[in-house]
Amino acid sequence: MKVAIIGTGYVGLPTGVGLAELGNNVVCIDKIEEKINSLKSGKVTIYEDGMEDLFQKNVASGRLQFTTSMAEGIKGADVVLIAVGTPPHPVTKEADMKYIHAAATELAQYLDGYTVVATKSTVPVGTGDDVEEIIRKTNPSADFDVVSLPEFLREGFAIHDFFNPDRIVIGANSQKARDVLLKLYKPFEGKTKFLLVNRKSSEAIKYASNAFLAMKIHYINEMADFCEKSGADVKEVAQGMGLDSRIGAKFLNPGPGYGGSCFPKDTNAMAQMGKKYGVHLSLIETTIEQNDLRKEKMGLRALEMVKNNPQARIAVLGLAFKGGTDDCRESPAMQILQEILKHNSNVCVFDPKAMSNAKAILGDKVSYANSALDACQNAELVVILTEWEEFRALDLVQLKKIMKSPNILDLRNMLDAQKAQDLGFAYSCIGKRG
Ligand code: NAD
Repeated sequence: MKVAIIGTGYVGLPTGVGLAELGNNVVCIDKIEEKINSLKSGKVTIYEDGMEDLFQKNVASGRLQFTTSMAEGIKGADVVLIAVGTPPHPVTKEADMKYIHAAATELAQYLDGYTVVATKSTVPVGTGDDVEEIIRKTNPSADFDVVSLPEFLREGFAIHDFFNPDRIVIGANSQKARDVLLKLYKPFEGKTKFLLVNRKSSEAIKYASNAFLAMKIHYINEMADFCEKSGADVKEVAQGMGLDSRIGAKFLNPGPGYGGSCFPKDTNAMAQMGKKYGVHLSLIETTIEQNDLRKEKMGLRALEMVKNNPQARIAVLGLAFKGGTDDCRESPAMQILQEILKHNSNVCVFDPKAMSNAKAILGDKVSYANSALDACQNAELVVILTEWEEFRALDLVQLKKIMKSPNILDLRNMLDAQKAQDLGFAYSCIGKRG
């Protein structure tokens, strides 16, 4: 099939690579010329595990192409996927639909023959109706259906998740459109669950899922606070909870608060949607408020460990919002670091993949190291903020030798607490008394 993807970012690019690998002819469209030029010259623009080889293979086969031209990309497409951003509106915190509406207007005039326009972006309930109306007004003779096709991939695992989805949700109000998408996703038949629902339910499923996951993280974070005070160990508590199949073990890792490009914006958008329909989504509202507060508290916790000395050298390990990605958008690590920087001007940072994205935000407010140990030279505190596997393997003996004072704040519970304490570190982590 011929597939056009509008928006070549963290969702659009892995989806394009995956669909090309399945044998489709894919054209990825983006407004940003620099991005498209880079992709055309064979340079992958985001870091995703396993993407490089598949990208090169499918570009070489001619099944994966890139363009800035909507006319060129949409021409002859059986399916157009919209994967543009839906960032929070700076004031209302609702999902800002300006990119979706622009994409719908721009694509409409180039539709030829029956086309399924499917929204992969996370969009408020009712957006499918708006997109349909925009296309119909712009091109009254177009033959098309608008479908909701929510994306559930996780950054850092985008390629894995493309080929191994938990479920494929198709929100279509027409059988013809449903059949086209079932054909596109035929290679997954028998391997994953297909859920065929109406368009609005499909749009709601994505928000309801992300808000639930955010609440689950917040819940275990509050349990971690409780464990620190009461003497229980949150790791053991989470294990005990997770063995209950009604609860499940995933998303029970306590940490410094959730972040990233999806959970904060999607919880806010869901809360705003509740308000729009006069439904008080109290659990979601509390989760948002407390999760924001948590990051401030984590910053203060770090500063307390150096007795609020503004000159004490602090090493920050990890800047990406989670391991396996270079994405710093709404990263808890970056937010906690900003809290630290309000009262301390001697911070050195390291992240295995996110240095250039972080530099664009932090500029010269911090110094940059070439390795984790390099960042820790002469430090009075090491703060671990992102769960990169290489931090788990930190050589604690060496670390002790190069630090000025042996203090560790492990907000991802990555290190061996006993070993750190035996070596003489003051070691603090989440959900267990030091
Ligand atoms: P992104 O910012 O990485 O990419 C969006 C791209 O769309 C940008 O490159 C932008 O230049 C391009 N774009 C915007 N308007 C355009 C237009 N009119 N024509 C062509 N290109 C245009 O965003 P993302 O992280 O890929 O997220 C996209 C959507 O998918 C969002 O709604 C997001 O909530 C949702 N989503 C994201 C993830 C994730 O892990 N990032 C997971 C599931 C769903």
